[in-house]
Amino acid sequence: MSEQLPYDHDLFERCAERIIAASRDIYSRGWSPATSSNYSVRINAQSCAITVSGKHKGKLGLRDVMAVDLQGKALMDRKPSAETLLHTQLYARDPDIGAVLHTHSVRATVLTMEQPGIDTLVLRDYELLKAFSGITTHNTEVHIPVFNNTQDMVELSRQVEKRMQCDGAGVAYLIRGHGLYTWGEDLDACMRHLEALEFLLDCEWQRYAIHANKR
Ligand SMILES: [Zn+2]
Repeated sequence: MSEQLPYDHDLFERCAERIIAASRDIYSRGWSPATSSNYSVRINAQSCAITVSGKHKGKLGLRDVMAVDLQGKALMDRKPSAETLLHTQLYARDPDIGAVLHTHSVRATVLTMEQPGIDTLVLRDYELLKAFSGITTHNTEVHIPVFNNTQDMVELSRQVEKRMQCDGAGVAYLIRGHGLYTWGEDLDACMRHLEALEFLLDCEWQRYAIHANKR
């Protein structure tokens, strides 16, 4: 059966092992509590490896990762995460995307809830903006789109695609009261983006709290 699948099984397992190692790291930092979040790595031009639905992200094993095609269809007899479509939308639109991480940290959740009117979070003048691929100076702005939360992933993936077609893909987006999505050319770049975003969201939160106390 495996020769009929659009990926090499050994390659899938190497992708899965990398996801499992990253997952332990992300869970230990408190960014993926209570079985939330999902992570993926591109296998090839037709498929990616992604975490299955509802597993504890500090305790993933090889059976907790599965292969799906770039329309989100399962290529294994395992249950994909409800948010699989948000990963495959990114792989399908850009062949240079090699990994996608979605997390549910406190900062990524609350910052957008406290600012219900915004549809973009602007990060400007931070030295750590240089952690994002292609940015070489602090003297710039990175725009992070904000989408309202929904359980309708088909509709949300359409909104994301529409926004990216208008404004470019950028490096990440936030879902209000839910968490963040970020991506990169490989898992190392994606982890660097995630760490940078968590740091920058913490900076934004602390600045927001200081300004709120002054009012
Ligand atoms: Zn989520």
